[in-house]
Amino acid sequence: MTPDERLDALREHFEEIVAVHDELATQLEAARERQDELRENVDGLQRENEALKTSSLYIATVEEVGDDEEVVLKQHGNNQEVLTDVSPRLADELEAGDRVAINDSFAVQRVLDDETDARAQAMQVTKKPAVTYADIGGIDQQVREVREAVEDPLSNPGQFEQVGIEPPTGVLLHGPPGTGKTMLAKAVANETDATFIKMAGSELVQKFIGEGARLVRDLFELAEEHEPAIIFIDEIDAIASKRTESKTSGDAEVQRTMMQLLSEMDGFEERGDISIIAATNRFDMLDGAILRPGRFDRLIEVPEPDHEGRTRILEIHTRGMNLAEAVAFDDLAERTEGFSGAELESLCTEAGMFAIREGRTEVRTEDFEAALAKIDREESTGTPVAFY
Ligand code: ATP
Repeated sequence: MTPDERLDALREHFEEIVAVHDELATQLEAARERQDELRENVDGLQRENEALKTSSLYIATVEEVGDDEEVVLKQHGNNQEVLTDVSPRLADELEAGDRVAINDSFAVQRVLDDETDARAQAMQVTKKPAVTYADIGGIDQQVREVREAVEDPLSNPGQFEQVGIEPPTGVLLHGPPGTGKTMLAKAVANETDATFIKMAGSELVQKFIGEGARLVRDLFELAEEHEPAIIFIDEIDAIASKRTESKTSGDAEVQRTMMQLLSEMDGFEERGDISIIAATNRFDMLDGAILRPGRFDRLIEVPEPDHEGRTRILEIHTRGMNLAEAVAFDDLAERTEGFSGAELESLCTEAGMFAIREGRTEVRTEDFEAALAKIDREESTGTPVAFY
């Protein structure tokens, strides 16, 4: 081969190599593009995966555990009931009444333990409330009646046996707001060293929808765990109103909650040292069923304080105040007709605020005057009385 021929052959080979190189470069470019595309895909899927893993779950209560690994769940909030399959492991673990977390397709993700339970939030438990009878003014007669109905059976049950009568099962305190009903219940708990367990009827139906009946059951269980105990159900009208004609699911729920309460009270004799007190501002709305013997069979009306009561309440709420002079509570009581205990307490706080505003540490009669004028003004303009 001549040198020229060799050169041509080499040139040809070089061009072939350049062409292959170009080809490979294009392929590499395409592969890189594909790689970027796939990487984006992976990122997207990872994000989706995270979102799926962290997406919110719904809370439901197990209504029934059937054979064949099927359970009936009731979703909280909308009360929707669904039949869903669960894994064999979960099926063994689940019991009716358990609270579970479910996803969008109603698959049970996990069983919630007691700590995440609503019962802790719905009930307020106080070992020994700080209120005593001496803190309550103007309702001596009611204090006496509550002591007879609640304190005596707790502290001296033998007395009832000897006389041969059943102590009252439940005490219902009724009367206008802020007249000391809650205080009364707390004071009995204090006096008898009983645990005070409070539950608000309105919360049961507004906040813990779908759980009312279960929470009522829990309430009594909790009381048994803490004997002696006083169960206090505030705003009982929210769960024990006269039956209405409408048949919405909300009403059915309220009915179930009330039925549970009635059945707990009916099975009450077997219980030990537990007393039950309820309170309402709407006595007229109550369903007669809860007032039958063996249920709330002791009714105590807690009225707005009269002149003497108002004087006493003013004295109580100024006990800890630094008064500059003897304030004429009698005169103040005269001018606060229609005030509840809570409003009188607010009047005293308001008087204290006037003294502070003036840079004084002593409260004078003029501060009470100013507070009264302010409250009168607010009442006439419809602005609510300030509570501190
Ligand atoms: P509601 O029906 O609104 O729940 P209630 O009747 O349970 O009201 P309490 O919660 O007992 O009223 O009272 C609210 C506050 O008002 C008390 O913390 C207390 O300071 C004051 N108060 C009410 N009544 C009296 C009273 N008779 N003696 C002294 N203080 C009172």
